Amino acid sequence: MSLIVAKFGGTSVASPERIKGVARRLAAMHDAGNQVVAVVSAMGKTTDELMGLANAVNADPPARELDRLLSTGEQVSMTLLALALEAMGYPAISFTGRQAGIETNGTHNRAKIVRVRNERILEALSAGKIPVVAGFQGIDANGDITTLGRGGSDTTAVAVAWGIDADVCEIYSDVDGVYTTDPRIAPRARKLDVVTYDEMLELSSVGAGVLQSRAVEFAKKWGVVIHSRSAFSEAEGTYVREESRMEQAVITGIAHDKSEMKVTIRHVPDTTGVAAKVFTALGENSVNMDMIIQNTSLDGATDISFTCPAADLPKAKETIEAVLPEIGAASYDVDEDIAKVSLVGTGMKSTPGVSARAFRTLGENNINILAISTSPIRLSMVIEASEAQRAVQVLHTAFELDSESVFEETQLSAEEIAAKMNKGR
Ligand code: ADP
Ligand code: ASP
Ligand code: MG
Repeated sequence: MSLIVAKFGGTSVASPERIKGVARRLAAMHDAGNQVVAVVSAMGKTTDELMGLANAVNADPPARELDRLLSTGEQVSMTLLALALEAMGYPAISFTGRQAGIETNGTHNRAKIVRVRNERILEALSAGKIPVVAGFQGIDANGDITTLGRGGSDTTAVAVAWGIDADVCEIYSDVDGVYTTDPRIAPRARKLDVVTYDEMLELSSVGAGVLQSRAVEFAKKWGVVIHSRSAFSEAEGTYVREESRMEQAVITGIAHDKSEMKVTIRHVPDTTGVAAKVFTALGENSVNMDMIIQNTSLDGATDISFTCPAADLPKAKETIEAVLPEIGAASYDVDEDIAKVSLVGTGMKSTPGVSARAFRTLGENNINILAISTSPIRLSMVIEASEAQRAVQVLHTAFELDSESVFEETQLSAEEIAAKMNKGR
């Protein structure tokens, strides 16, 4: 008998039929003698739709009100799942984030969990019920509802698993695990049996949307084992845990991210302290910079580029327009049609020549690199957005990650696949 936290994402609970399917799955786990706690996301694209509604009445909705609104999505699915379980004769009880004991700081829209109280969930389990927890939300010290950032139900699941000392945190989605890259982008992607916390953290933070990076961070910190698997099949998925391997592949996976933009400030006087002025101002306005590139100086002036989330565009524009006259730069431009493609693998540390091979591969395929950054286990390259899919595919082949078999879509509608491919745009 195991104590299992089972999280089901938006696609897995997108319709009444799929909710009934999730209920059957939970019932089977229960019948097999396990104790199980469900965590759910909002149905389908509900969160995007709620965001759209908010923007339709207020172009800049206050964060507190937005959280209040967005949290309702998960409250619908948690209740429907509890109702479906009850209809099958399995006692269930739904809990909002607050009722499940998820306490956070007050940073609305991307709150951090500060405490997890487990009493109500444990009580429900010992009464033989299946607790169903609304993901993505918590409560702050003022009693206000907070949300944990997009994809945050994964974090709720890991936090609940830690709070009740579960044996495993199963994250069910529409793919049967973590692949060497998004199998919808490169159908020759290979499913991984195990990924270490560090690799998964790096992969998630550069765009592998299959697990939220905050969830992986939490799991690593507290030693929660994650099992990423499919809501639509029984297949074993991918375990995310600490593991020492005898031999390591050079590259574990490739991810891409189209949610960033590149800003270039033109003709900046090449004098001491200019970069400090620009980046201090951007930092003070909470623009989250990623890569920074300073070109060689010509005639005493240079161009400075940086990448940041496209969502930060208004803040970035405002800041740069204010500092331009101060630093004596000529102008700036913004390129939103970029993608960041990243190679991740602990094996990179001990293998020379990874960057050269990656650059050569893109060069041979006429894909121009606009910016580069590295960490000990990651190499990221910024390219034109329209080349992202091809870049992932050619790198996947060049680093010998291709599998014999081809990923086959069996469950999702064409509309659902299209929505997934456009995520982050
Ligand atoms: P959920 O809505 O259940 O939380 P997500 O859409 O957040 O599910 O995550 C699953 C999606 O992640 C898959 O549909 C897949 O297209 C995408 N994905 C991106 N990178 C990877 C990867 N390396 N392995 C598996 N899936 C990936
Ligand atoms: N519903 C939220 C979102 O769409 C949280 C989640 O799905 O994990 O981001
Ligand atoms: Mg997700």
